[in-house]
Amino acid sequence: MVFGWGKRAEAEEEDDDDDDEEMDLVLFQGALNGVQPNMKENARLVSAGLMLAKELVTNGLSRRAGSIRVDPKGERSQVTFIIDGVAFPGDRISKQEGLAITQVMKLLAGLDIKERKVPQQGGLKAEFEEKPYELQVISQAAEGGERLTVRCTDTKVKLDTPNDLGFTDEFKQKIRALASIPGVFLVVGPAGSGVTTLKFVVVRGVDCFTHQIFTIGESGRKLDNVTAFKANEGDSLEQTLGRIYRIDGDIVITPDVRDAETAKMLFNPDEDDGYKAALIAEMPGKDPPAAVVQLLEWIGDPVAVSKGLNGLIMQKLIRTLCSKCKQAYRPNPQFLKKVGLPEDLKVLYRKPKVEEDEPEPDSCEKCGDLGYYGQVPMFELLEMTDEMRALIATKPDVSAIRTQAKKEKMLTVQQDALRLVAEGKTSLEEVQRVFKAT
Ligand SMILES: [Zn+2]
Repeated sequence: MVFGWGKRAEAEEEDDDDDDEEMDLVLFQGALNGVQPNMKENARLVSAGLMLAKELVTNGLSRRAGSIRVDPKGERSQVTFIIDGVAFPGDRISKQEGLAITQVMKLLAGLDIKERKVPQQGGLKAEFEEKPYELQVISQAAEGGERLTVRCTDTKVKLDTPNDLGFTDEFKQKIRALASIPGVFLVVGPAGSGVTTLKFVVVRGVDCFTHQIFTIGESGRKLDNVTAFKANEGDSLEQTLGRIYRIDGDIVITPDVRDAETAKMLFNPDEDDGYKAALIAEMPGKDPPAAVVQLLEWIGDPVAVSKGLNGLIMQKLIRTLCSKCKQAYRPNPQFLKKVGLPEDLKVLYRKPKVEEDEPEPDSCEKCGDLGYYGQVPMFELLEMTDEMRALIATKPDVSAIRTQAKKEKMLTVQQDALRLVAEGKTSLEEVQRVFKAT
C-alpha cells in the first residue's frame, strides 16, 4: 500500500538541493495496526514534519542504524543513530523540528498524537532501496518533551535457524539434545540481546517431526510445526502444562521466567513421573550463572533446581569487522598468549589504523569508515553435568558456578569472542569494548 502523499513528498524532494548525493528517500507505508493516518486533518503537521521524518529515517537506514532516537535537549533536539549496537550522535536539530518528526512518526504508526505523556508503541511498514522494512515507533515522556525511538528491522534478513546464527555442528547437536529431554532449558540474556530470537532458533533446531511442540499463549512469531496452545481462562501455568502433558506434548515453550511464581511452577515435576516434557523459557538475566543463583533464591529448594535444570544458553552480540577495509597485522606471540589466543596465530585483523606520518587510508564506502559492518552472536552454554548438578544442590554463588564451568571447559562468551578474533571476524579492540561495557 503506497499513499499518495508518499509520492508527493518525493516530488518535493527534487527541489531540495541540500543533499549532495542523489538518494531516494524512504517510502512510508501502512501502519502495522491498520489505523489509517488522517493526513488531511493533520495537514499542518504533515507539511512541517513529513519531509524531515523521511530525511531522518533515510539517513538512518542508509547508515544501517538499528534504531534512531530523537531526544529533547534544552532548546534543541539531539538525533542519535544506533549502528550495530553502538550509539553515534547525529544532527542537533531545532526543538520544533524534533517535535514535528516525533508527531509525524506517531501519526504514521497509527498512534495517538494528542497523547504525549503515556508511553506508546506502534509500527509501520517502509521501503528503502527496494528493501522492505518494519519501523517500530516508540514514544515516551522525557524531560522537556518526548523521546522518539524508531527501531528499524530489515524484514528480509532471516535469523531463524541455528545456521543463521552460526551454530557449529557440535554446538547444534548439543543444544538439540538439551532442548528436547524432559526438564527445563533456559535462554538467558539482558533485554535487547536477541533472547527471543535465540529461543526460537533453539526450538527450530529440535527435530519437529519426532517431537510434538507447543507454545503457551501468543508467541508473537509464526512457527511451523509448533502448535499454539490456548490456556483456559483462570488456569494456572501448572494446570495448563498438565493439559499439554495429557495430549503428549514433548516440548513446551512456556511464558518467560520473570518471578518466583513462574519459576516454582516450572520446577515442580510430577511426584511419580518427574518431568514429562522439555520446558523451554526465556529468563532475563546477566548471564547463566547469575540466572541459576536467581532461580535458587526464587525456588528456595536447591535440589529441585539441580534436578530440573538441563541447561542455560546465552548470546551476546559483537560487531564484525568490515570485510572491505579490515587490516591484517602480525600479532606478537607473547601478547597472544596473554589474551588466551593460540600462540602460533600468524595474522589478526583490526579496523584500519591511521598512522601519524602516513597518508590517511581511502574512505570505505561499505562501512562509512566505522571499520565494522554487522554483528554476530557469541554464545555461552552452562551444561548440567553430574558435577554441576551436585554443585547446584549446595546452593552455590555465582563465582563457584563459574569456577566449575571453567573447570569443565564449558563454552563462555569470552571464549567464543576469542574464536571470532582468531577467525578474523572481529578485532581484539571490539572484544575489549564489548566486555568493558558490562
Ligand atoms: Zn569498511
